Amino acid sequence: METQQFDIAFTHATLLTADPARPILRDASIAIADGKIAWIGRGLPEHVPCKRRVDASGKVITPGFVNVHSHSILTMVRGVAADLGFAPSYTPGIPKGTQVTPDQARVLARLGALEMLMFGSTLIGDNFVCADVTTEAMAELGMRLTPSWRIHDVDFSKVTEGKWEYSAAIGSATLQAGLDLAERWKNHPLVSVQLAAHAVDTCSDGFLREIAAISRACDLRVNTHLGQSKVEVTRVQERTGKTSTEVLDEAGLLNDRLMAGHCIYVTDPDIERLARAGTHAVHIPKCNATSGRLAPVHRIKRAGVNIALATDTQHGDMVELMRWALMTARVQENGVNDDWQPRHVFHMATLGGARATGMGDRLGSLETGKLADLVMFDFRRPHLTPHANPLGTLVHTGQGRDVELVMVNGEILVEGGQPTRVDMAEVCAQAEEVCQALWRNV
Ligand SMILES: [Zn+2]
Repeated sequence: METQQFDIAFTHATLLTADPARPILRDASIAIADGKIAWIGRGLPEHVPCKRRVDASGKVITPGFVNVHSHSILTMVRGVAADLGFAPSYTPGIPKGTQVTPDQARVLARLGALEMLMFGSTLIGDNFVCADVTTEAMAELGMRLTPSWRIHDVDFSKVTEGKWEYSAAIGSATLQAGLDLAERWKNHPLVSVQLAAHAVDTCSDGFLREIAAISRACDLRVNTHLGQSKVEVTRVQERTGKTSTEVLDEAGLLNDRLMAGHCIYVTDPDIERLARAGTHAVHIPKCNATSGRLAPVHRIKRAGVNIALATDTQHGDMVELMRWALMTARVQENGVNDDWQPRHVFHMATLGGARATGMGDRLGSLETGKLADLVMFDFRRPHLTPHANPLGTLVHTGQGRDVELVMVNGEILVEGGQPTRVDMAEVCAQAEEVCQALWRNV
C-alpha cells in the first residue's frame, strides 16, 4: 500500500495476524496511515516519514476482537442473574430492560462497552431496548458497532409469568425503532445497524416473515437467538410443530446475512440447514456453560458453519472467552484433537467474527490495506512468559486485563490500559448509582 506518511508505527512486535498465510511474525513492524494498516514487515521503509514510533519489544499485537453478540445494559444484573436462570429477559425477580429509563440505559451501556473495549473488543454487536441512546453512548467511546434494537412481537412483560402473547402493536413499534436506528446511523463510518429478530418464540411466524422481507428490502443483516433454551424449543414446537431453525428457514431468514446466537438446541438436520444456508453461528460458551448447557459447536464446526464468538451477558473478556470455547469443546470431544487448537478459537474471535458481520474483507486480521483495529498485549509478565508459542500462551493464560493498547480505525482508544476518551472511574461510579436505584425497585 503506497502512503506518504505513517501516523504511527509499532516496531519489534510479535504479531499474531489471524492471516492463515503468515499467522505469526516476530520482531515485526506494523504501521498505520489514514485509519488503515499501511505496512507490515521487518523494520520500516526508510523513505516514509512516521509521526510516532512505539517500541513494542515484549509486546504482542493481535487484530481487534470482534464480539458480535452483547447486551451491555445487562451489566445491571451482573453477579446475580447468572445464578438464577438461562437469560435475564426470561428471569423473574431482577431488573428488566422495560424498566430502564433512557438515561439509565446510556450509563449502563457505557459501562458494558467500556469493559469490552478495555479488554480488546474493537467491534461489538450490541442489542437491546433503548438502542437509540445506547448506540450513542457506545459510539462516544470510538468503537466499531453493529447495534440493533430488540425486535419482537411477544409481550415480554408476560413472558416471565409463562405467557407468550403476541401483539401487532408491539411488533410494529419495535420494528420501527429498529428501522429508525438504521436510518439514524446509515452514514456513520463505524456503525452498521442490524435488525435483531429476538428469538423464534418471541417473534410470531408472520412477524418473522415481515422482518425477512424488510431485511432484504433495506439490505440489513439480522441477528437472533437460536435454540437458546428448552423453553424456546418447547414453545416453538407447540406453536408450529417445527424446530426454531426450520421456522427461520421457512420465514426466509436462514441465509448468509444471519447471525444465530447460542445454537444450543439444534438437531443434526438443523446444523445441515445452517451450513447449507451459510448462516453464521455465534458461539457463546461462557454464558451457555454458566447456565449449565453447551452448544454442539464441535458438530457445527465440523459441518463447515462459520463461527463467531461473543460474551453476551457475561464478563466482556474475549481472551477468557477463547479459553472457554477451547475447553468446553475439548470436553465435548473427549480430548485434545486437531479441530480444537488455539488458532481455531483465535480465528473465531477475530476473522470468523468479522466474516459474520459481513466485514471479513476489511477487518479481522492484520493485513496491509485492512482497517486499523488492533490490540497490543504486554507479554512482559510472569504468566505470559516464555514466548515459545505466543498464541498458545495468549489463549491458555492471557487475560483481558493484559491489554495495554486498543486501536480502532487508527485511533488509540485505550493506552497504558486506560481509556483515552472517558474517565473510567466516572463511568463506574455512575453505573453503580444507576444499578442501586434499579435493584431498589425490584
Ligand atoms: Zn443474547
